[in-house]
Amino acid sequence: MPSDIAARIEHVKARIRRAAEAVGRDPASVRLVAVAKTFPAEEVRRAAAAGATEVGENYIQEAREKFEALAGLGLTWHFIGHLQSNKARRAVRMFDLIHTVDSARLAAEIDRAAAKMGKRQEVLVQVNVAGEATKSGVAPEDAAALVRELTGMGAIRVRGLMTMPPFFDDPERARPFFAELRRIAERIRSLGLPGVAMDELSMGMTGDFEAAIAEGATLIRVGTAIFGGRA
Ligand SMILES: *Cc1c(COP(=O)(O)O)cnc(C)c1O
Repeated sequence: MPSDIAARIEHVKARIRRAAEAVGRDPASVRLVAVAKTFPAEEVRRAAAAGATEVGENYIQEAREKFEALAGLGLTWHFIGHLQSNKARRAVRMFDLIHTVDSARLAAEIDRAAAKMGKRQEVLVQVNVAGEATKSGVAPEDAAALVRELTGMGAIRVRGLMTMPPFFDDPERARPFFAELRRIAERIRSLGLPGVAMDELSMGMTGDFEAAIAEGATLIRVGTAIFGGRA
């Protein structure tokens, strides 16, 4: 892995290009979300100077410090952590896209907060494709029903789905889970729900994003390959 952040971002972008071209996709259809959890604002600033435009954060409190320090850089902010209902308001204030909606109750809090702020909050529904007890997300068979519920919430716009597959040393083994998320999104799209775009698939991290791109990822969430290992 190259040692400075600019070289690492270039390296990740080259990996994205190769993975997209290998399956006949336009590399520009894959957006790189630089996952900055545990890294300070100055590292994010360096990433932005090197061309990163989208930042992912897992924790509201940690994100707030960076959000305030980096206001004015024109970054797009993605919330990718587990969101508690009582933090919905703070999430709505900061984030352009919330990737981790997994219950109607959480969505209702987001909707209420967004309505108050006069904002239409874009969200993804997180799906626990593998049914792992340790992971958040709705069960695959419940995803369509949750999306349908969200269409009744006027201050929310559902853009697509997000998943985190089990960890494998061999990223090819994650690929069926990415393919399944794509199929779930296609099924929901075919329902023609009003205002539901279903055009975003958030899947793939440092170790497996090529496999995710091969299965249609439009947002990949990459931390380690950009910022280095986390303590
Ligand atoms: C930390 C995190 C990532 C980034 O993982 P890396 O392996 O460091 O690229 C992506 N998605 C989520 C939800 C995360 O919590």
